[in-house]
Amino acid sequence: MPLMLPLAVEPFGGYKHWLEAIPGYSQQISFHSLLPAIPPQPVTYEGVFRPTLSRWGIAPYEHQAAAFELLEAGHNVVMATPTASGKSLVFQAPVVSAMQEGATALFIYPTKALARDQWSRLETLADPFELSQRVFTYDGDTLPARRKKAREEGLAILTNPDMLHFGILPNHGRWARFLSRLRYLVIDEAHYHRGVFGSHVALIMRRLLRIAAHYGASPQIIAASATIANPATHAAALTGQPFEAVSASGRGSEMEFVVWLPRALDPSGERRRSANLEAAELAVWAATHDLKTLIFTGSRKTAELISRYTRGSDVEDKIRSYRAGYTASEREKLEEAFRAGEISVLVSTSALELGIDIGGLDAVVMVGYPGSVNSFWQRAGRAGRGRERALTVWIPREDPLDEYFLRRPELLLGSAPESAVADWQNPYLYPDHLHCAAYEKPVVESEPICKPALLNDSFIRRRNACYTTYKVPHRRISLRGSGVVFTLRDAAGNAMGQLDERQAYWEAHPGAIYLHQGESYLVRNLDPKKREIVLLPSLEDYYTQPRASTEILVYPEWAEEVTSGVWVGRVRMREQVTGFVKKRYVTEAVLEEIELEMPEVSFDTEAVWFHPPAQALSPDLVPSGIHALEHAMIGLLPLFVLAERRDVGGVSYPIYPHELPSGEGPVIFIYDGYPGGVGYARAGAEQFGRWIRATYDQLAGCPCSHGCPRCILSPKCGNGNQFLDKQAALELAERLSAIFPTLK
Ligand SMILES: [Zn+2]
Ligand SMILES: [Zn+2]
Repeated sequence: MPLMLPLAVEPFGGYKHWLEAIPGYSQQISFHSLLPAIPPQPVTYEGVFRPTLSRWGIAPYEHQAAAFELLEAGHNVVMATPTASGKSLVFQAPVVSAMQEGATALFIYPTKALARDQWSRLETLADPFELSQRVFTYDGDTLPARRKKAREEGLAILTNPDMLHFGILPNHGRWARFLSRLRYLVIDEAHYHRGVFGSHVALIMRRLLRIAAHYGASPQIIAASATIANPATHAAALTGQPFEAVSASGRGSEMEFVVWLPRALDPSGERRRSANLEAAELAVWAATHDLKTLIFTGSRKTAELISRYTRGSDVEDKIRSYRAGYTASEREKLEEAFRAGEISVLVSTSALELGIDIGGLDAVVMVGYPGSVNSFWQRAGRAGRGRERALTVWIPREDPLDEYFLRRPELLLGSAPESAVADWQNPYLYPDHLHCAAYEKPVVESEPICKPALLNDSFIRRRNACYTTYKVPHRRISLRGSGVVFTLRDAAGNAMGQLDERQAYWEAHPGAIYLHQGESYLVRNLDPKKREIVLLPSLEDYYTQPRASTEILVYPEWAEEVTSGVWVGRVRMREQVTGFVKKRYVTEAVLEEIELEMPEVSFDTEAVWFHPPAQALSPDLVPSGIHALEHAMIGLLPLFVLAERRDVGGVSYPIYPHELPSGEGPVIFIYDGYPGGVGYARAGAEQFGRWIRATYDQLAGCPCSHGCPRCILSPKCGNGNQFLDKQAALELAERLSAIFPTLK
């Protein structure tokens, strides 16, 4: 079949020339690449799932057949493949085959919406075998009668970790029929299970497998994930079981990839026009040619702004914004109009990233780096209509990761995805889950789930078994957060969302301008006793930045030198918000400094630390040099691990006030921002050579002279980005990357 261009683009010979024809084009294309179509090839497959596949009329692709063969050989399999590569078939065929024999399968999805979506597909696939009535979703919205039916008759049940934890495991007696026949455990979208949530899930999966074993079942596990660096390790971290990984690449159509650098406002390129204005121009151009285009933005506000900037153009009726705040019927109307072609361009937040069917697209435009390589591909993967060539445009903003990829666009297309982390031995999460496990069935010390070193004295031990002293330990756990949670309310008292304690003091202290889903609010009040925060709509022309003091205390007995000079260990983090400043938008002028005394937050977590070679600097530059280096490194950690900048924190000490096992001298700590830690700092330490090299490149290449949001300025700095020296940080990074030249 021939590869084609969309009709409107044909006269231009390709998207590049089409973009260059935008009126007033001024060399914004800073990188262009044409990626070939790599259609996957179907293969002959004769294995045990063949009868089911034949009934559907499906011949599997090579990677799917490879996964089937591993499953037949008894392995647990994890699929790490791009969007739309047919990874679902790898669990659908085995599950529907098992259902025909009366065996059961349990599916874990991170959200209800994703489970529903898969449910309807599985129902259709089970239909030829007259088994569609045996497929159930089981979540918080399932009515009691339906729940009972699912327990009694279900062969395939699609649920989420929350339901498993609160509903199924504590009542497993009612699930004896289902669990005793459990042949497959399917963990889809496994990359979602990461960080604190992933650590909870890792504990829940261990509890599930333990209870399944109690009923005589040892299910085979099939996991599927977006492309991540460590699929087998991550799946093993989530379940405690070994995995074989199968990966695949592929793309049905050609794709042109363009980096669109907003036009420079000064000769050096230090200042550039806003990415939103550039996106609006692209929107108008796409609408003029009726090219179906989806523009992804980071916030509702940006989405609104971009569509507002297109007002007054001839095609304004063909451009709309789409965001989570709209009602369901508003959204359905938009989706329908977009599918029907009445609207050509949708400007959307990530609300449209997953699942929602809006038909084929010609082009995807991303305003800003979406945070990870895998979410970049997830978004880019939405472009492509059949065999027609697709376009992906990326517009960088002023941010360290954007800047990094702006100067290495080929890395965006070719670089290894990040690792996902989850740590079931998190000392804060573990004891409560062990209480749940013990509630579900007394825990014997020889069981793998039992870690005596992590036990506290809230258990009763009799002979060699552990019993819980709690009545309903499951309620003590909040899976989607950690520890104390504050509720955000509007002036009328309606709940708007939640924040954990640390975030609450940091971002939503009294007087703060707080951004919630892209809208700004003024915090009227924070009540630490009732754990409530009251927000008012904000009309202020300033924003706020907290001032805080942070301290790191090392537990020397837990310290470990991961590579020469790079240490990881348990630390205690103490943080107190001590005030805030009001700053004018745009001019950044400080309007006022206000003192506050918020409660101290402290917890044990994990940190990486090292002593930068500061003897190279003149002593007065050491504090600002190590501070700037700390910021730059934090900004780039998300290149190596699936994390956001706010998942970690940092403190740098010109002189550390206590003794350290790593020796003396100025020291930089970068720590996991969650009680107990989940592995971010450790993942950074293990890739320290690459990390420091990337930091050096970033500092050396950033066009600014004294530091900017692309290199060393951090929105999370506790002293408001004061005392930062870019040159000194560059000097340190250069020396450090010379020390770690050979490490990966
Ligand atoms: Zn800079
Ligand atoms: Zn700082």
